[in-house]
Amino acid sequence: PTPLGPTPKLVIDLERMQQLPQDKAGPLARYIATIQSQRGDYNGRVLSIRQEDLRSLAVIYDRSPGDLTEELIDWGVLDPEARRAVDAF
Ligand code: C2E
Ligand code: C2E
Ligand code: C2E
Repeated sequence: PTPLGPTPKLVIDLERMQQLPQDKAGPLARYIATIQSQRGDYNGRVLSIRQEDLRSLAVIYDRSPGDLTEELIDWGVLDPEARRAVDAF
């Protein structure tokens, strides 16, 4: 077993996401809204997403998954722990 424990989840802070300027967070917010609608999961303060979906978001934002992760951490939407989830790609 690794001393760092299992791979952390990618957990989006929905409240923080709503506070961001539209031009930055618009594509992210639309993507997340789609997942919420597919799951019927509207009431959470956070949303756990698939690693695969971070890859799709990276394509949308025209960045590498690692760079987008740094940006989302800067915005306060992802926890810094999420770096370990993306390093595992
Ligand atoms: P699906 O991928 O065929 O998954 C069917 C059901 O299996 C999901 O219903 C959920 O109950 C369960 N499931 C699948 N993968 C996971 C997982 O990694 N963790 C957990 N806890 N459960 C899982 P649900 O949630 O109602 O989603 C319905 C459909 O909506 C999914 O069908 C999928 O097509 C889409 N969807 C939901 N959430 C996501 C997401 O985060 N990313 C993507 N790409 N699609 C999603
Ligand atoms: P966790 O994954 O660390 O999540 C902690 C809490 O964050 C959850 O408490 C829930 O309040 C919130 N949360 C995380 N991801 C989501 C999300 O995608 N949608 C919403 N609405 N809330 C989210 P909760 O629900 O009491 O779950 C406690 C623990 O139970 C979770 O810890 C996880 O370890 C497990 N768990 C709950 N649902 C699932 C599931 O669908 N799949 C798996 N594998 N574990 C689950
Ligand atoms: P989780 O539920 O703890 O699942 C952790 C990992 O186990 C998932 O990572 C995925 O690799 C695998 N897994 C769990 N359930 C299924 C399943 O039904 N089918 C398949 N093919 N794999 C499964 P992943 O995909 O990165 O997802 C991370 C977290 O995002 C999940 O943690 C869960 O909290 C959330 N999630 C992802 N997809 C769905 C979904 O369709 N519905 C719901 N409700 N939550 C989802």
